Amino acid sequence: MAKKKSIKFNKQTAICLVAIAVILACLVAICFSPVGNAIIASLSQDDSGDNVTPAPAPIIGLGSNVEINGSVVLSNIQFEAHFVDVGQGDAIVLRFSDGNDWIIDAGSGKSEKSATTTEYISYLTSIGITEIDYVVATHAHSDHMNMMDNVLDNFVVKNVYYNAEESGAAYFEDFKDNLSAEAGVNVVKFDADGDNYSFTGDNYSIKIYAPGHDRFEKINYMSPMIMVEVEGVQMLFTGDNEDTVESWFMETYAEEDKDIDVLKVGHHGSAEGTTTEFLRYFNPEFAVISVGMENGYNHPTGNAMDRLYMESVITYRTNRQGNIVLYVDENGQYAFDVEYEFPAENNRDGANDRMLVKEK
Ligand SMILES: [Zn+2]
Repeated sequence: MAKKKSIKFNKQTAICLVAIAVILACLVAICFSPVGNAIIASLSQDDSGDNVTPAPAPIIGLGSNVEINGSVVLSNIQFEAHFVDVGQGDAIVLRFSDGNDWIIDAGSGKSEKSATTTEYISYLTSIGITEIDYVVATHAHSDHMNMMDNVLDNFVVKNVYYNAEESGAAYFEDFKDNLSAEAGVNVVKFDADGDNYSFTGDNYSIKIYAPGHDRFEKINYMSPMIMVEVEGVQMLFTGDNEDTVESWFMETYAEEDKDIDVLKVGHHGSAEGTTTEFLRYFNPEFAVISVGMENGYNHPTGNAMDRLYMESVITYRTNRQGNIVLYVDENGQYAFDVEYEFPAENNRDGANDRMLVKEK
């Protein structure tokens, strides 16, 4: 009896062991599967959002084709604009097919500058940045410039354009110290009213319109307007400008092609900027707002969002969609890719799609 009982016990043990092994195998399989990763990711989500390290943006890359629903939509990508999610601040990277890389602003409103900076520098490295041909600092506020010294520290920079209106703050002094320590950097301070600069490549042009530091009182309003055209796609970058400079720019730009495709919204969507008149004048299809979550300024404001909505401008926001990348292909088609899908509160039909494609 004892022997039989012993055999029966061993069978049960074996069944138990097999069952445990199966369960363990299943757990291991789940952990290494995409579903498992999603489960683990959701389990490790911090509702406050403070401790979540953003994933790097999906790399599509210059020269590549992008397929959506099995058909090639973008072929031979010629340009990328990265609106890097740095919280409350602007950090924009432009990559052209001739190898030129530009940075417009490198700032962050986060108090923990070191953490943001590490993420930002990692992002630049992850997309293959080694040298930066042009750095433009729109104006001397920390949310546009406090990582500039780190950019100079980490990359070979060839040209730096910055506003003549300086700041005595530590980040600005660090920027100037690093700038003077770099050999061979071409430094241009845009200063006089209406200083303009033009650049052209095989398939693109860039025009910088600087209001000058005597024209307007606010430091924000010393931001240049930067018009970029690639393969017929027009983009306007506005720094922290608002209504006053918008009016000046409409007069300045009156004679030129003014139907743009993408607007980088001025001053993080402040109430005074992005006027209806400005939107109707330049008529953008899409807008991007670089803005931090729960910032103290209530950016983007309902006023700006309402105006964008009323003019049917599909609007992306870094505080919702994370890193946002705009691609332009050789046929002048363009599309956005976003880090996080998020139902945009101010979008037209189809705005929740991961990829939005607009044909010229
Ligand atoms: Zn700003």
